[in-house]
Amino acid sequence: MKALKVDHIGIAVTSLEEGAKMYEAMGMKLAGVEEVAEQKVKVGFLPIGDTEVELLESTDPEGPIAKFIEKNGGRGGIQHIAFRVDDIAKALEALKAAGVPLIDQVPRYGAGGAKIAFIHPKATGGVLIELSER
Ligand code: ZN
Repeated sequence: MKALKVDHIGIAVTSLEEGAKMYEAMGMKLAGVEEVAEQKVKVGFLPIGDTEVELLESTDPEGPIAKFIEKNGGRGGIQHIAFRVDDIAKALEALKAAGVPLIDQVPRYGAGGAKIAFIHPKATGGVLIELSER
């Protein structure tokens, strides 16, 4: 496998609209707002250059973003970094063969119709890494 680029940086926020204001003040535009029910989040993307900032607002107090914010003292923060791959199924097979622990054994639905999968943070020094195929 080969990671192609930083696809996006995932940032947990308590409010998408409030969270977007600072980025919009820098000339970025919030687009592609979508609710991903499976992950209990509302997602919005702010394209910058050839990558994006992904803002994540929880839609459920038991969801992973709500729990991340709770652990972070009630504030948001960088929740994950996503790398673009051209074939996520092949990428997951290559990582499994290399003994890398995965959260997702098979790709799942991501915002904007991407196929995504997460690598376990114990393999990455505590950083949650998402693979994304678009
Ligand atoms: Zn993401």
